[in-house]
Amino acid sequence: MTTPGETGPGDRADADERADRLAELDMRAIIHPHTTIGAPDEPVIFTRGEGAVLWDVRGKSYLDGTCGLWQCPVGHGRAELAEAAAEQIRRLEFYSSFGDYSNEPAIRLADRLLRLAPPGLEKVFFTNGGSEGNETAIKLARLAHHHAGRPERTIILARTGGYHGMGGGSLAATGIDRLRQGFGPLLPDVEFLGRPHALHHDTDALVAELEQRIAELGADRIAAFIGEPVLGVGGMVPPPPDYWPRVQEVLRRNDILLVVDEIVTAFGRVGHWFAAERYGIEPDIVVTAKGLTSGYIPMGAVLVGRRVLDLVDGAWFPHGFTYNGHPVGAAVALANLDILEREGLPARASAVGDRIAAGLAPLAELDHVREVRGVGLMLGIELDRDASGVQSGARADGLIVRAAGNNVIISPPLVITDDQADALVRLVCEHVAAVGN
Ligand code: PLP
Repeated sequence: MTTPGETGPGDRADADERADRLAELDMRAIIHPHTTIGAPDEPVIFTRGEGAVLWDVRGKSYLDGTCGLWQCPVGHGRAELAEAAAEQIRRLEFYSSFGDYSNEPAIRLADRLLRLAPPGLEKVFFTNGGSEGNETAIKLARLAHHHAGRPERTIILARTGGYHGMGGGSLAATGIDRLRQGFGPLLPDVEFLGRPHALHHDTDALVAELEQRIAELGADRIAAFIGEPVLGVGGMVPPPPDYWPRVQEVLRRNDILLVVDEIVTAFGRVGHWFAAERYGIEPDIVVTAKGLTSGYIPMGAVLVGRRVLDLVDGAWFPHGFTYNGHPVGAAVALANLDILEREGLPARASAVGDRIAAGLAPLAELDHVREVRGVGLMLGIELDRDASGVQSGARADGLIVRAAGNNVIISPPLVITDDQADALVRLVCEHVAAVGN
């Protein structure tokens, strides 16, 4: 195994000069997401990846403890996926799937997804990523009620701490204030419920709040409820076991559609193909992206259930993105699903997730640690202070973890080895302890 932080062989002086030049160009030419415009940070420039390890342009290695942004269950450097993309590009790079045009990989992928998905999901709408998927879900939910003769059902119920993306609707449904400021007015008719709280799970209170908000707003004005099965960006917060079945019962009773954002959780990360299986959710719409192609090519898929299909039956749907159903994305997704299946990676996520969780558990004893939590390979440590010191300290030592507010987010590729998992635990423990001083 490569030791995190180890610098590989090669001519250091040349590598450093090239790295400096690229860094300077980067800072001059690129606006990076989630940075201060006009005050760029010096970038880490990755050049190569293999499994759970990345190398930067200076030759330093990093253990990838976040899988980028959760997008890479099968790990980096899979030649099989490169070959699937190249083969498809040689055959047909792309043609629009608007109207009655289609292509074979997209057809095969849709069929395969519906066979993998929880029961009741019957059609697929492809996208380029997660935000587009949630825009699609919100529009479909509103259209469903509109077409069924109840156009006043426009409200989307979302949750404080939820993250659904950066588009007009998906940001409006994102309950994290620091991401919304300066962009208003956002899509109207989005109402927020309280954050499912990690520290004191209280399903009774959360369900009572839901019932009360429905009564206040009027069920006949609400189109859908959107939520992540496990809060991701909001702090890796798994729900109490009875949360989803009880929420779902209230929604059904009030004819409110349930949109489940599985952009992080689908394709094995919580030990199942879909988190809906794990938590007993029967969604009306499931939104996926990221793990669908392991991020080798941007692609997402919205899976639509029978209740929605019945409501929108016969409705004109003027919605689509140029690259919907991209054949190269679909070919890569099919090859990626082959790997996930062949290597039993959802089960691996449970096993190695338990190993990492056990290693991190003692951190809960520290005064500045509020909670250590997670499920499968979605793990989080909540501090009583900003977690960015853990991110920067660990990175200097060759481990990538992510700070989101007070939370340290850990979500490595599902292929992380036991040795790598132990190295990750050791470094996280060291750097969480260090910020307590
Ligand atoms: N929903 C969830 C739960 C996410 O974590 C993300 C991205 O992290 C998104 C939506 C947005 O997806 P994308 O960045 O592909 O648009």
